[in-house]
Amino acid sequence: MTFPEFNTKNILIIFGLLIAIVLSVGYSIYNFWDLEKFNMYLIDQLVRIQSITSSTTASLVNEKKVLGQSLQTEQSKNMVFEGQINQISSTVDELNKLRQLDPELLKKYSKVYFLNENYVPIELSLIDPSYLFQRSKPEFVQTHVRPFLHNMIEAAKQDGPILKVVSAYRSFYDQQSVKAGYKFTYGVGTANSFSADQGYSEHQLGTAVDFMATDLKVAFVNFDKSPSYKWLNDNAYKFGFALSYPKGNSYYKFEPWHWRFVGVRLAARLHDNQEHFYDLTQREIDNYLPVIFD
Ligand SMILES: [Zn+2]
Repeated sequence: MTFPEFNTKNILIIFGLLIAIVLSVGYSIYNFWDLEKFNMYLIDQLVRIQSITSSTTASLVNEKKVLGQSLQTEQSKNMVFEGQINQISSTVDELNKLRQLDPELLKKYSKVYFLNENYVPIELSLIDPSYLFQRSKPEFVQTHVRPFLHNMIEAAKQDGPILKVVSAYRSFYDQQSVKAGYKFTYGVGTANSFSADQGYSEHQLGTAVDFMATDLKVAFVNFDKSPSYKWLNDNAYKFGFALSYPKGNSYYKFEPWHWRFVGVRLAARLHDNQEHFYDLTQREIDNYLPVIFD
């Protein structure tokens, strides 16, 4: 093995190599330091980004919470509003109900207080022809009274008596001609004993009905002896009907066939207390007007 000689040329080469090594190490160290600096910079940026992100997230969460709360507030406001609307509409319903209720429906009529000749019920409906004494002669009642009347006739049939309607709604002018007809058929004296003069007949209201018992030959004679009359006395109140002119009354003739719809509540009171419609004060009767069709 031979070593290179220590001549000037070789020494220069070695020295050159040493300088190159020192420079390259120095450069590497510089580079490393620079990279480290960059790295630190990146970490710093990352931390900043993270803190920005977390603060953004926190503010978003907060914002969501605030929005949720205001949504809840709005929803509860809406619920309150909705409740108010419901309350208002039910009050309006009540008012409409009262406004639609004809105040004449429960009025007492007499020879001094009677219906105007132009009075016509708000609504009238045809009574089922199978319930009529004369199928060919249509009869009408106040529309809301109709189901009560039909139910009553059906209930009577279940128990035996077949109730037939002879007469229901009559206009002021019908009443005039009916009275004239009765006078012709029965004579003035008899006609006066069972037919009200026009104007104060409850028939003009559309809520009064005259019945005929099918077991009787003549429409009204001896009606008070019929099973139909007994049945009506015991049961008509359940369907809102009351006898307008009972036996021995001081205001009109006894009319056992003539039943007026006054609503179940008032009819039940009259029945339970053995009272008569015309014996109550108008003020007492008026309390039952809002519930007449209940
Ligand atoms: Zn009558």
